[in-house]
Amino acid sequence: MIKVGDKIPLELGGFAEIRAVLGSGGQGTVYRAVYRDKEYALKMYFKNKLKRPEMFRDNLTALTDGGDISPSFVMPLILTENTRDGFGFLMELIPEGYAPFSDILNARVKFSGLYSIVNAAIRITMAFRELHNSGRSYQDLNDGGFFIRPTDGDIRICDCDNIAPYGEHLGIAGKPGYMAPEIVRGEKAPDKLTDRYSLAVLLFRLLLRGDPLEGSRVLKSVCLTEEAERRHYGFEPMFVYDPDDASNRPVRGVHNNIIKFWRIMPEYIREAFTHSFTVGLHQPEKRLIEKQWLDLLIRLRGDICACTCGAQSFAPSYERDEENKLICFCGTHFAPPLELSDGRNRVLLSEGTKLFSDDLSVTAEVVRNKVNPGLWGLKNLTGEVWSCTLPNGQEKEIAGGSAAPIFKDTVIEMGGVRYSIKESE
Ligand SMILES: [Zn+2]
Repeated sequence: MIKVGDKIPLELGGFAEIRAVLGSGGQGTVYRAVYRDKEYALKMYFKNKLKRPEMFRDNLTALTDGGDISPSFVMPLILTENTRDGFGFLMELIPEGYAPFSDILNARVKFSGLYSIVNAAIRITMAFRELHNSGRSYQDLNDGGFFIRPTDGDIRICDCDNIAPYGEHLGIAGKPGYMAPEIVRGEKAPDKLTDRYSLAVLLFRLLLRGDPLEGSRVLKSVCLTEEAERRHYGFEPMFVYDPDDASNRPVRGVHNNIIKFWRIMPEYIREAFTHSFTVGLHQPEKRLIEKQWLDLLIRLRGDICACTCGAQSFAPSYERDEENKLICFCGTHFAPPLELSDGRNRVLLSEGTKLFSDDLSVTAEVVRNKVNPGLWGLKNLTGEVWSCTLPNGQEKEIAGGSAAPIFKDTVIEMGGVRYSIKESE
């Protein structure tokens, strides 16, 4: 038994001294430990829990010198020696302010707003794309493996010890709800295509706060035995909103989140999930690729829209009145906001709208004019100067910290891209 104060010898020499227990999972225990005056997390596997410990250790060694990968992944850094208590590895601690995804799913932790949720979805998708570009798959997805900072949607992905090259199965029994049906049925080892299924599940759980296959049918199984689980997630999977089969619909009082959030999702997001959990259940090669999800999620972020009451929603989901004004649930009717478009993507410009760079730092924000609160501006939050052409042809330079006026037919050039402000539909 490992206890506080124990010193675990490391493969590269030196010791990690145990300070506290952080948590225990199916494979092992994670401790807070100190190595060379710095605190780390130390994961020690339960002895006898790994089916093939040598193969596992070899994979860990490959991961520790696996080269650069997104900082979203909390990768193994240094292996311990094989000790009487088994072996493990050091990794970075999860920084303060990050909550386990499970705490978000059970509403113990709340996001600061829609931007944080959609940006978390974008970051997760980007991380998967990077992993797949390096020829590896994640294998063991579950709610406990993800940490999200609710203030801005930054993420940390743990359990990275299970990342392995395609086709190699580390013998990890993933969580049925996240595993592709063909893995649940025991037909395949994890790869890019099975990870893509898991990504769709993760995005569904993040955006709709429920399980895409858990509806009335699953509730009828009085207790979810392993056999019932294999049926619902492997042999007879059925999407809760399958357009051709209503036998597994969400149940009011049990799946309220899904019912509520499905209604506010724009049609293009509903279609993507419907495809993922109908066609994609049975034809792995037809699952959405990461780039498709990224395009959809960036579009979703551009559709975030705020009412004067402060409530945010996605513009396509508002009801409209006979003058085509958007109706907020607070009762306010407001004109559709103007949009900023580069001809490909659009971003609606309403109070608090934010623009982001590819690496998700904020580059601009919609603000009210301090002198004349009836006027709106797009504040430049970068160090670069924008050039702006007003509707009357007048040209203006917009330095960092100042704002371009938001008028129809204004053209703004930022970072070499030309955007125009237009009426939205
Ligand atoms: Zn409102």
